[in-house]
Amino acid sequence: MSRIVGIDLGTTNSLVAVVDSGIPMVLADKDGSRLTPSVVHYPAGDAPPVVGHAANRIRVLEPADTVYSVKRFMGRRGAEVSVQERRVTYAVEGEAAGPVTFRMRDRALTPEDVSAEVLRKLKADAEAALGEPVTRAVITVPAYFNDAQRNATKRAGELAGFTVERIVNEPTAAALAYGLDKLKEHSRVAVYDLGGGTFDLSILELNQGVFQVLSTHGNTCLGGDDLDRRLMDFLIDSIRMAGGPDLTEPSTGIPTEPGATTGGDAAAEAKGLSPVGTERLVMLSRLREAAEQAKIRLSSEEAVEVSLPFLTPRFSFTYRLTRVELERLTREILLQTRAHCLRSLADAKLEAKDLDQVILVGGQTRMPLVRRLAAEWFGCAEPGAGGARGKPVLNTSQNPDEAVALGAAIQAEILDGGFKHLLLLDVTPLSLGIETFGGLMNVIIPRNSTIPIKAGEMFTTAVDNQRSVLIHVLQGERERARDNWSLGKFELEFAPAPKGVPRVGVQFEIDADGILHVLARDIATGRQVVVPMRSAVDVDDAEVQRMVEESVEHAFDDLRARQWIEAKLRASETVVATRKGLTECHADLEPAYRVSVEAALGRVEEALATEDTRTKVGDVARLIAANAALDEATRALADLMMDKAMEALLRQRGMIS
Ligand code: ADP
Ligand code: MG
Repeated sequence: MSRIVGIDLGTTNSLVAVVDSGIPMVLADKDGSRLTPSVVHYPAGDAPPVVGHAANRIRVLEPADTVYSVKRFMGRRGAEVSVQERRVTYAVEGEAAGPVTFRMRDRALTPEDVSAEVLRKLKADAEAALGEPVTRAVITVPAYFNDAQRNATKRAGELAGFTVERIVNEPTAAALAYGLDKLKEHSRVAVYDLGGGTFDLSILELNQGVFQVLSTHGNTCLGGDDLDRRLMDFLIDSIRMAGGPDLTEPSTGIPTEPGATTGGDAAAEAKGLSPVGTERLVMLSRLREAAEQAKIRLSSEEAVEVSLPFLTPRFSFTYRLTRVELERLTREILLQTRAHCLRSLADAKLEAKDLDQVILVGGQTRMPLVRRLAAEWFGCAEPGAGGARGKPVLNTSQNPDEAVALGAAIQAEILDGGFKHLLLLDVTPLSLGIETFGGLMNVIIPRNSTIPIKAGEMFTTAVDNQRSVLIHVLQGERERARDNWSLGKFELEFAPAPKGVPRVGVQFEIDADGILHVLARDIATGRQVVVPMRSAVDVDDAEVQRMVEESVEHAFDDLRARQWIEAKLRASETVVATRKGLTECHADLEPAYRVSVEAALGRVEEALATEDTRTKVGDVARLIAANAALDEATRALADLMMDKAMEALLRQRGMIS
């Protein structure tokens, strides 16, 4: 069997690495380049797609037929892609629940198709470098990718001819590359990964040579691209103020279906391919490249000249940009990463001083401001000052662009049987559970559980002679089912029986790739259904964040709602049982006792009537008190009913006459 390669399929850059005789190394292509831009150009006619650096160069000239930042669209539906995300120089199609596609002339391509082109190039480069066929790969994804996004990544790998052995979270791979397994027992590490299009912060702990992810937070739409865009906006203003072309028009950068095939002049115009439209796109692409180059150079220089000669035949643009100015423009974007750092620490129940190291990953962390901010937020010891007690060390020893790919290669080697002492563990970003009686969320796997994981619970029916139960799988942090996300529903049938008798086992299993499989079993017959859940709802980071925030914000209301629903279910059960008892035992009861039970019943019914028709919540304290009073009042009745039932049983068996 061929060896397994590790692949960092990045938003901006992709890399392939292997472990060779125990040493992880990134493989270069025939031009000696170790980074392959995740960019694919689709030329006219039958010519094959152009990938990587070559495509990146063509991108300036053929912006409408060159796809970049495709990772942002992986496994996402049209409705989930914002207007801002669609602001690319090629046509993004797909609405509502439909998949995102890119129109390249007369072809509609999926994000998987495009990613597969990048992976095909990495596969060919690896085969050329190693001199042997390469068919197996470990591919990394941001920690916050949901099932749909992970599945799309896996499919892209398969399209490229790989057997995808494992999907691994990027921060976990990075920690491996930093060799953090060599730290002392129980060391804790924060991985700050800021690339071109994603941000993650994960807290890991080393236990007996095993990495455990204590928590993870991030944003799948935050990265170096946003800094480039901010700088571009600034340059667009400067160009306009210097008397150059106005590139701010709303249509800027959003070509309207350049591949549409309907004929006629009006159609040609509507296609956005008029010379003016094309020229503007070329200008914007040049501007984007100039902005990124300036940003990169300002990581090592104090000031640079941004120069765009002959932006139009009569206008050339130059601007002297300083590091201070870049920092002023982009600081606000970088500050957005702080909340994720704090939340990850809070989820891990740690403070910054409990960390041993903070490692930086992703090309954008080369920016001095990023390093300063990270050092400040985590209270790191001054770089170079060595580890002071109680202060984490800011570790920037590895090449931030390559750490993830190297870690993927190490993971590949582990799967191949090498490096046996290491294991990888990841965590669930949100709680998973099912809907139960009264519309409540019953959590089966809590948020931040280590995966792979298997957990289950036993349920029963709420109604007599129910023939099936509906298993409604939910994801989220809210108490009520309707406030969480629905991942899917399916039915389990069983033989009718009185309520409370059927026993239904529900088991959740999350495999090593983070994909959830739900099993429901009728315990009596062993009949079962297993349904793999392809997350129908996108768990993109902004939504995870919102979910967590809302759960905190509504914690009090949610708790009241849960208490109300539970008290109400209890009340309806005891009311029915008490009425039944009063009827059956009527002759045996003192009239005064009957009156006191009736009164207690009345108070429960009054408390139930406090339910607000809008919020479906009533006076919780009053209902709980009324339930308790009814329990107290019916104790004698309950004893009497129990005696009668026992007597009937004994008589039936002929033990008494
Ligand atoms: P991804 O993981 O998204 O593929 P990378 O880790 O390759 O991304 O990082 C790419 C980002 O890093 C780009 O936005 C790029 O502009 C930025 N970048 C690369 N080198 C530098 C540098 N020296 N200074 C600042 N930013 C850089
Ligand atoms: Mg990356």
